[in-house]
Amino acid sequence: MIHQQTCVRYVNGQIGYGVYATAPIPKGTIVYVRDPFETEISPDGFGAMEECYREVAQKYSFIDEKGYRVLSWDAAKYVNHCCNFSSISAGYGFEIAVRDIAAGQELTDEYGLFNLEHDMFCCCGSSNCRRIVRSSDVDRYYRRWDQVVIGSLRCVRQVNQPLWPFMDADTKKSLCDYLDGRGRYVSVRQLKPAIATRFTRAAQRFAEVPLPAVVAQHVAIGERCAAAV
Ligand SMILES: [Zn+2]
Repeated sequence: MIHQQTCVRYVNGQIGYGVYATAPIPKGTIVYVRDPFETEISPDGFGAMEECYREVAQKYSFIDEKGYRVLSWDAAKYVNHCCNFSSISAGYGFEIAVRDIAAGQELTDEYGLFNLEHDMFCCCGSSNCRRIVRSSDVDRYYRRWDQVVIGSLRCVRQVNQPLWPFMDADTKKSLCDYLDGRGRYVSVRQLKPAIATRFTRAAQRFAEVPLPAVVAQHVAIGERCAAAV
């Protein structure tokens, strides 16, 4: 579930849609939580889908630490990547604002934590743009991203958290244990599947579609990272 004070806007033909704040969202605000409405697709389930459904799933989902695709039922699926992201996935599974986001500004994310199946060219225009968002970026950047998350978690109890009632009990406990000094910090690296996602033969064939098709797909889903490589 995406933060309630957001809306979807059409950006342009290349990017497609994006998610924008309709009110100020301060640093430390949880902007996305997994909820029971999300569709979870197992690797086998993905492989068994008709190709047209797999295309939709691949467009709009991210892959979680179990290797399952998570397809959001709301606007969360329209959040674009930016190397200078305004929110990021924490190791706990929710996403958190890493700086103050003003009304009218776009919520952006770090796709390097989404377990991408393809590296993607990025043209986000940020001064720190990596140009290519790689599926292996989590191994390279997780320490840096953890520092960003830790800095944002310090603000969690100082700001309104409208998504708090929607967060599952286990996640709340893990977060509160950390904030109260009773539990360890959960690194963003925990979002990477321990075992590589297992593909059925059908899914593997789909993952090997010719590059131009994948390029068009990523443009179509409105990512700032416009193309797979
Ligand atoms: Zn970039």
